[in-house]
Amino acid sequence: MTDNADLAALIRTIPDYPKPGILFRDVSTLLLDGPGFRATIDRLAALVAPDTELIAGIEARGFVVAAGLSYALGLGKLMLRKPGKLPGEKIGADYALEYGTDRIEMHVGHVRPGQKVLLVDDLIATGGTASAGVELIRQGGGHVEQALFIVDLPDLGGAARLRDQGIEVKCLID
Ligand code: 5GP
Repeated sequence: MTDNADLAALIRTIPDYPKPGILFRDVSTLLLDGPGFRATIDRLAALVAPDTELIAGIEARGFVVAAGLSYALGLGKLMLRKPGKLPGEKIGADYALEYGTDRIEMHVGHVRPGQKVLLVDDLIATGGTASAGVELIRQGGGHVEQALFIVDLPDLGGAARLRDQGIEVKCLID
């Protein structure tokens, strides 16, 4: 991790959200800041592996990161969506969250066999969401070798969990 204290200062912490005892790191305040968001995308873009072919973002804040990187690098983006949002034929993966359970889905055929896909989200905590994303992209035939996040909560072990699956994980802030 590089020194991104300037960006960390733009993220606010909301206690007891979404339930008592959880400290929610709210990146909406970073997104509100134009120079801060631009610096976030520029710094993440500098970390992207050069052979990356497609950027997959996890709904919903991951879409913001994926869109910025996609524009910066001229790469396509793949939306990994919450259930019931995709109109076409789809596949899905269920996962446990830091709080509760959820599922993400993607369109069949939107990853080419062997295509190198970068997975992005705003934050990694337990890694349940990102692991489901990796599983889904691999199920769809893609290769995931790298995942990028604005924030890592290292005490929750998600980055280590992804690294155990052979994925390079990089974050701006932890
Ligand atoms: P995980 O599955 O790694 O436990 O949780 C990460 C997912 O939940 C990400 O999609 C992320 O957007 C969301 N999430 C969990 N905790 C937080 C948090 O404190 N702040 C933000 N911004 N997102 C969180």
